[in-house]
Amino acid sequence: MIAIYPGSFDPITLGHLDIITRGSQLFEKVIVAVLSNPSKKPLFTVEKRIEQITYCTKNLSNVEIDSFAGLTVTYAKLKSAKVLLRGLRVLSDFEKELQMAHTNKTLQEDIETVFLATTKEYSFLSSSVVKEIAQFGGEIAHLVPKEIAEDVYSYYQKL
Ligand code: ADP
Repeated sequence: MIAIYPGSFDPITLGHLDIITRGSQLFEKVIVAVLSNPSKKPLFTVEKRIEQITYCTKNLSNVEIDSFAGLTVTYAKLKSAKVLLRGLRVLSDFEKELQMAHTNKTLQEDIETVFLATTKEYSFLSSSVVKEIAQFGGEIAHLVPKEIAEDVYSYYQKL
């Protein structure tokens, strides 16, 4: 069974990587799909994010990286995927994620959303937290893979 793991991944964190790794043990193939959303102002271009995720997942043979625009269910259908993989951290995620899962179900009945609970040491971790710390020069080495930390710091140094 093919699962799509859609998200912004701006940038990918150890929390995302944990979901990808665990998802890759459950599904035949996991497609990490970077959402191209022009209304959000991302730190990294979609191409750069694809490059970063590809690097971080190079040891996972059944993980593919791609990007998409528009509806996730349309993209999932195109890829013959039956599952949308999402991560749950805290109660506030739950409301948003459940609404999204229900909406997607009304659009495409045969696609299921599967949630993986965060590994507890990453339950506070989001791409936004990483950016908030890095812009003030704080330590992010425990939050993102090493190469990603370098990219994030160089972004803020160039500003
Ligand atoms: P989006 O903008 O679609 O929420 P994100 O890149 O923020 O994109 O997140 C993608 C998915 O990964 C979401 O389901 C989110 O809940 C999940 N996720 C993000 N951080 C973590 C984490 N630390 N642990 C588990 N799941 C996470």
